[in-house]
Amino acid sequence: MFDKILIANRGEIALRVIRACREMGIASVAIHSTADEDAMHVRMADESVCIGPAPSSASYLSMPAIISACEITGAQAIHPGYGFLSENAGFVQMLEDHGITFIGPRAEHIRIMGDKITAKDTMKALGVPCVPGSDGGVDDVADAQKVAAEIGYPVIIKATAGGGGRGMKVAQDEKGLEVAFRTARAEAKAAFGNPDVYIEKYLQRPRHIEIQVFGDGKGRAVHLGERDCSLQRRHQKVLEEAPGPVITDAQRAHIGQVCAEAVAKISYAGAGTIEFLFEDGEFYFIEMNTRLQVEHPVTEAIFGVDLVRQQILVAAGEEMEFQQDDLSIRGHAIEVRINAEKVPGFTPCPGRISQYHAPGGLGIRIDSALYDGYSIPPYYDSLIGKLIVHGRDRREALARLDRALGELIVDGVDTTVPLFRDLLQEPDIQSGNYSIHWLERWLDRKYG
Ligand code: ADP
Repeated sequence: MFDKILIANRGEIALRVIRACREMGIASVAIHSTADEDAMHVRMADESVCIGPAPSSASYLSMPAIISACEITGAQAIHPGYGFLSENAGFVQMLEDHGITFIGPRAEHIRIMGDKITAKDTMKALGVPCVPGSDGGVDDVADAQKVAAEIGYPVIIKATAGGGGRGMKVAQDEKGLEVAFRTARAEAKAAFGNPDVYIEKYLQRPRHIEIQVFGDGKGRAVHLGERDCSLQRRHQKVLEEAPGPVITDAQRAHIGQVCAEAVAKISYAGAGTIEFLFEDGEFYFIEMNTRLQVEHPVTEAIFGVDLVRQQILVAAGEEMEFQQDDLSIRGHAIEVRINAEKVPGFTPCPGRISQYHAPGGLGIRIDSALYDGYSIPPYYDSLIGKLIVHGRDRREALARLDRALGELIVDGVDTTVPLFRDLLQEPDIQSGNYSIHWLERWLDRKYG
């Protein structure tokens, strides 16, 4: 086992990893930019290294600085968290060259899944059901029109290098296709440096259902059920729950097995998420994330497992602590993402936290790096915390969420907390009757 792990991240996810390290008796090293000198992850880690100025390109994304920090502190492994370098195959390769262990899958798997066309081809070949669409990329408008005519409108043009909901354009008909195609390519080139796009059938009212998988890197893999992340704004998740309100035990067992077998066949190592759109009882693969997800705690809650601990074990060459038969679901969990943002525009609201009080009691988990007097820097993601509740069933989880949100105090900046309190009053949220479009329509109705 490692003696020391460096966490190449900040905020709540850095704390999450430090906590797992501490429980395993492993020393932790935090890295930080000059803007994060007073950040909680720096205070909580056993050691810390300043690796550069505020912009993440010069700090949290600076591979040479991070590798130097490992060498200075003697950290043997790096946990990347999510975002930043967590899905950067070049980084993994570089670590390997320096004899540092990456806590995550092999570079090869990150590379395959990082290119969405290759990911889809690979999944299809592994027997995973996919959204109907182009076989590979589409190079010009004529090609796009041909595919669209075959699969039928509406269609969605997506960037093969896409992520974070960017580089996607919907076309309702042939007239709209040309514009959608050109804008998607331009956006993809600007955002990802790669203009390649592909086409999929645009599903009208699907749910976003993702399957948590975990592989030991030696050909054994399990699934830990699904998360429903259909409540989204601009293709970004806002609230996640597990199990999914509309997924049956039989559907879970089936798709779970398909996913576990797929990753077992490629000897995938560590945590991964296979994302699907789900409509009329069918699952359609959209992408795979080769890392820990923001919303992993809802899965941890209902299965009673520590996914970060398992990631560390597998990276160290040890066995994961469960097999499929050991995994069973207990109760229901919901996570809300608390962002420092002003609703309804969702504009970021960095600033000083004048008062912070976290809720407590049975079934409550708060993953947050906030503290009284903390100043949220303007340079990074606006996620400032996650509130995760666990109840015996969905009703209890919802009641607990409302109760916990009522106790939570985050003063000094605008946050998404009031939004969640409003959402909990909605009959569709109470009954679990929502698709990926529900939230945007609700926001339109409420705020115009
Ligand atoms: P990203 O990597 O940018 O997050 P994804 O492929 O995971 O992109 O898609 C993000 C979201 O976009 C999905 O959760 C869904 O809301 C929407 N989306 C993607 N593909 C389709 C599709 N074929 N039909 C309808 N909505 C889609």
